[in-house]
Amino acid sequence: MSIKSRKVAIIGTGLVGSSCAYALVNQGICEEIIMIDINKDRAKSEALDLMHSVEYMSLRTKIRVGSYEDCNDVDAVVITAGPPPQPGQTRLDTLEVSVKICNSIVEPVMKSGFNGFFILASNPVDVISYHVLKLSGLPKNKVIGTGTALDTARLKSIISEKLGGIDTKSIQAFAMGEHGDSQMVPWSCVTVAGESFLKLVSNYNKIEEDNLDDIVKETAKAGWEIINGKGSTYYGIGATVVGVLKAIFHDEKKVIPVSALLEGEYEQNDVYMGVPSILGKNGIEKIIELDMKEKEKYEFNNSANILKEYIAKLGY
Ligand code: NAD
Repeated sequence: MSIKSRKVAIIGTGLVGSSCAYALVNQGICEEIIMIDINKDRAKSEALDLMHSVEYMSLRTKIRVGSYEDCNDVDAVVITAGPPPQPGQTRLDTLEVSVKICNSIVEPVMKSGFNGFFILASNPVDVISYHVLKLSGLPKNKVIGTGTALDTARLKSIISEKLGGIDTKSIQAFAMGEHGDSQMVPWSCVTVAGESFLKLVSNYNKIEEDNLDDIVKETAKAGWEIINGKGSTYYGIGATVVGVLKAIFHDEKKVIPVSALLEGEYEQNDVYMGVPSILGKNGIEKIIELDMKEKEKYEFNNSANILKEYIAKLGY
């Protein structure tokens, strides 16, 4: 009998990286986690702290500090290294530094012989995902940005609250486009337990259709609200990364709005952005094309244009 154990390397073991690792350990998603950071003391301390949690977890995950050479046989490399945007900055403002950090990571990872999935969380995540695709030479299905997956969780939580607390898992809704200010929501495709959300809204006295733009803004600004109070956001993205890895490792065929390369889908080309995608053992197996209304298409294309402007700065 051959036993396959799943290995994940996390590069950047700051708040986001360590939260991803904790969510991985807590949910028992893989057998081994390799923690890599330019700050070796940080990586070592996080690895130790996590190791001490394993006694009380359901799976005996091995956690250790490692180096880029160790990525040769890992199933997934999660990149969470990067400067968190400061108040007053947008995620796009961190591009230059994030690109330099990425360059120092992707080359040695590929040199190790790595042939697994890249999961990108570093911001600006859509542009960084495009960069990693080009740098790594891996196929597009294996280079996956967290995209608007976290925004979608935030959106569903706001909708749930507006509808009196209905379970977010009974709401089918997606934030799409940039993981940033230009993201949009195709409201005509939102359903609650099979019922059109727009129809529900027109019968519901708490939400007017005019308030929908406010919900989109509230979703896009949710990260800032957290940053204003505690400086960073990390639990939500930690769980999001694990949701993506779980869908791949368990071949769930789960639809998650990750950042994916568009090649004709939504009439867009050569841009990474958040779109509902089927995730399974091959990574991004299919992009779901929603039938959007004209206004929604306009908003989606506007987000694509903003991302393309930043992708152009990469100089490909
Ligand atoms: P942090 O400062 O706590 O951690 C960053 C870590 O990266 C540090 O430990 C640092 O030593 C490490 N690092 C820096 N340069 C490195 C290099 N060249 N090689 C290896 N490691 C290096 O920051 P954080 O709060 O964990 O945020 C990390 C990234 O995650 C940021 O880009 C942030 O914007 C992003 N983020 C993304 C989402 C999302 O939804 N995609 C959500 C939250 C945060």
